[in-house]
Amino acid sequence: MNDRSPLGPTSPAGPGPAPGPGAGRPSAPPRDDAWRLRADVDLDALRSNVRALREHASGGARVMAVVKADAYGHGLVPCARAAREGGAAWLGTATPEEALALRAAGDTGPLLCWLWTPGGPWRQAIEADVDVSASARWAVAEIVAAARAAGRAARVHLKIDTGLGRNGCPPADWAELLAAARAAEAEGALTVTGVWSHFACADEPGHPSIAAQQAVFVEALEAAKRAGVRPEVRHFANSPATLTLPASHYDLVRPGVSVYGLSPSPAIGTAEEFGLRPAMTLRARLAAVKRVPGGHGVSYGHRYTTPGETTLALVPAGYADGIPRHASGGQGQDGGPVLVAGKLRTVAGLVAMDQFVVDLGGDTAAAGDEAVLFGPGDGGEPTAEDWARAAGTIGYEIVTRVGARVPRHYVGERVGDRAGEGA
Ligand SMILES: *Cc1c(COP(=O)(O)O)cnc(C)c1O
Repeated sequence: MNDRSPLGPTSPAGPGPAPGPGAGRPSAPPRDDAWRLRADVDLDALRSNVRALREHASGGARVMAVVKADAYGHGLVPCARAAREGGAAWLGTATPEEALALRAAGDTGPLLCWLWTPGGPWRQAIEADVDVSASARWAVAEIVAAARAAGRAARVHLKIDTGLGRNGCPPADWAELLAAARAAEAEGALTVTGVWSHFACADEPGHPSIAAQQAVFVEALEAAKRAGVRPEVRHFANSPATLTLPASHYDLVRPGVSVYGLSPSPAIGTAEEFGLRPAMTLRARLAAVKRVPGGHGVSYGHRYTTPGETTLALVPAGYADGIPRHASGGQGQDGGPVLVAGKLRTVAGLVAMDQFVVDLGGDTAAAGDEAVLFGPGDGGEPTAEDWARAAGTIGYEIVTRVGARVPRHYVGERVGDRAGEGA
């Protein structure tokens, strides 16, 4: 489970001055006996999830692994690399900065970045061979200008809003967008490499919006064809559609959360049922354990009071680390679950910025003992989904919000994986 061999007292704090504010930098691997809170990311699980998603993809559709938002909190570069190793033909990011970071780390494969704002680094993206996305004519105009500056054609995916009501070109403006893209193609400024859209309710199979969106997409593809657009890839399916809606797979599926082993929705199936394994395990080492009498208030606001004499354990993780304050526990309300001293416990009282408390109900533990907040779930520990339920949110948010202060440790990293990685 641990990727690092136990360290002896070889290099207490590294060379240089005594540990200062920089000593806790996320990139500094803590000594094995000195960590506070860590996210272990199982890259073998991630590779195997991508392989499973390739099998879910029907009709020869390939997989674009979505690695936006620091790979849903798991770490952009190691996860992108593992996704490629698992057979992801494409990678997808939201922001251009994420895409350019992948290029800087040495990734050279097909890569799409879709969240563009006016004045974005289009030229850098074009020079770095990143496919860009346009939902409006202003974007095509900016792409054309950037392509001229770069001296090469941009690769552009045209996005239609088939009903999500978020990004994408309204159907009423689609013909104009196609015409603008075709004109730019004619002058050699760009190539339309993709036509795509995104679902609103794919996690609710049978929702009427699904069929409605599919119908609009079919029309948009036909209009593109009539306009002379010949995309390399047509793509529509996020994780839930990849897992439940083969008719939406086209040439490419675009799963995100399932790459990291989470089911997009417990209502459609568990991770295990889909052949997925959660990649992240979040663990902490207890900072304190103490006996307190009954009637003792716990944490800010005293939302929880010990029902009798008991033992309280202090977990050094708080909302600054991404632990949702909504998963606080009070009288009559169970907080987020934690495996401590062999049993599942729940957060007692309010989650604070850096710490929360669990009531061990009289059991014993010692400072330094491990607490597992979530993981794959087969070692008795809770899952991100359990935390989502406790916090009234979705598993996506639980893993993605794990903070920058929490070091990621990679399990299953391959020899040579670190070569060429930026500092
Ligand atoms: C985030 C995102 C995805 C991946 O969605 P999941 O539900 O995590 O699979 C796919 N496409 C777009 C446009 C996205 O923003």
